[in-house]
Amino acid sequence: MSNAATTFATDTELLTAIAPATGGREIFDPATGELVGRAPEHTTADLEAAVIAAREAQPGWASLSHAERSAALNAAADAVDANAEALAVLLSREQGKPLNGPNARFEVGACSAWLRTTAGFELEPEILVDDEGGKAEMHYRPLGVVGAIGPWNWPMMISVWQLAPALRMGNTVVLKPSEYTPLSVLALVKVINSALPENVLHVLSGGRDVGEALSGHADIDKIMFTGSTATGKAIIRSSADTVKRLTMELGGNDAGIVLPDADAQSIAEDLFWGAFINTGQTCAALKRLYVHEDIYEEVCAALTDVASKMPMGVGLDEANVLGPLQNKAQYDIVAELVQAATDSGARVLTGANPVAGQPGFFYPTTLIADIENDNPLVAQEQFGPALPIIKYSSVDEAVAMANGLEVGLGASVWSSDLEAAREVAARIQAGTVWINKHGAVDPRVPFGGAKQSGYGLEFGVAGLKHLGQPQVISY
Ligand code: NAD
Repeated sequence: MSNAATTFATDTELLTAIAPATGGREIFDPATGELVGRAPEHTTADLEAAVIAAREAQPGWASLSHAERSAALNAAADAVDANAEALAVLLSREQGKPLNGPNARFEVGACSAWLRTTAGFELEPEILVDDEGGKAEMHYRPLGVVGAIGPWNWPMMISVWQLAPALRMGNTVVLKPSEYTPLSVLALVKVINSALPENVLHVLSGGRDVGEALSGHADIDKIMFTGSTATGKAIIRSSADTVKRLTMELGGNDAGIVLPDADAQSIAEDLFWGAFINTGQTCAALKRLYVHEDIYEEVCAALTDVASKMPMGVGLDEANVLGPLQNKAQYDIVAELVQAATDSGARVLTGANPVAGQPGFFYPTTLIADIENDNPLVAQEQFGPALPIIKYSSVDEAVAMANGLEVGLGASVWSSDLEAAREVAARIQAGTVWINKHGAVDPRVPFGGAKQSGYGLEFGVAGLKHLGQPQVISY
């Protein structure tokens, strides 16, 4: 083990362990503007050293049995649990998400759940053929060193989604978190590394240049990328010369279709959280809601009622369940898209009109009705707390609108008739279609995008296989 398993009593103790006291890059709390801490500024030279160390450590890690690597991942989950509150407080301060609701404590809990579930999967060789003509077996070997590049919205959880299956399969990992949320991931890795052998897991707090160098690096065998579609395309290009394996979890603009027989009151709260989880800053959040004309006004009213009961504010205040946008750039995108919607004459049910001059990147919870399908707030990914609600008259029209974009991460269908909902679900071009819920992920159930939302799968045994090199043994 690289360090004795340590428990950090507070986020301040964690920060002291990961961040320089002076220098580095200042990271500010998006809710208050206060200094959270200083992130080390790792460079491409640090990347070279990390890749060499990870490469040297990989054969030893791969020589352990699956059971031994699983035990290490379970120990890492124990370490996360032992430090859960300090991690959640730091995450809340850096990312902005509240401690409560489906936010910071939930995210840290998901880290340990994903580590444990990934540790528990069986991955036996598959016998493909066994007859008088011979035998063929499929094995999954480690790839080598995996590079993982992540976003700022769920920085800890998405890092675990990448590192847990990679490690379990016998790879070593070099992680490059978003420059907006490095402290959360540095702290998480500090805790996880207390349960792992030295040099198996590295983290570099660098910018886009480090991400670019990682995705073009000759000694990196695979990139796990979660982030925007535009960056995904850049990584695909820079990985081409080394024919790297890639898993691309990219942007989405998920549609939800409410069928005319749905019960507006009973679905309203799940619709709300489908859209506003993590204050809308979620890849597979509901970002465009299509509601049949027969129940349109009822759904609009029920959603407005739920929205009025969800407090937004500073994350460390236990009452809040919605927080700020994580950064000014994202705040500006949301503000511009809502402005485009209101300029077009769409109806504001609640929100819009942010208060000027307040600290923090808070944008009010916003519901916009009577909006056209080609409005930018519908057609572009808002990634924030603003939901457009579009009226439709026929299911064919709703399906066509849902399928009308180049992305297809998730989608949902809402109905009291499960069979009718399943029929509509089958017609939607998305990696996951939920029925009467939206965005629920499970470490046992594969997740991935359709169309320009990416390729490759995460989670489940199918996800593990994407971190291995398939090898056929035939005799
Ligand atoms: P982003 O693409 O701007 O940045 C993601 C990461 O890529 C960062 O670590 C960044 O430093 C790095 N990077 C930037 N340019 C790079 C380059 N040329 N080469 C290599 N790395 C580079 O994304 P973001 O703004 O942090 O995240 C928001 C986006 O992520 C949204 O579009 C959202 O839908 C998507 N997302 C998708 C999933 C999913 O599972 N599909 C999950 C979360 C977020």
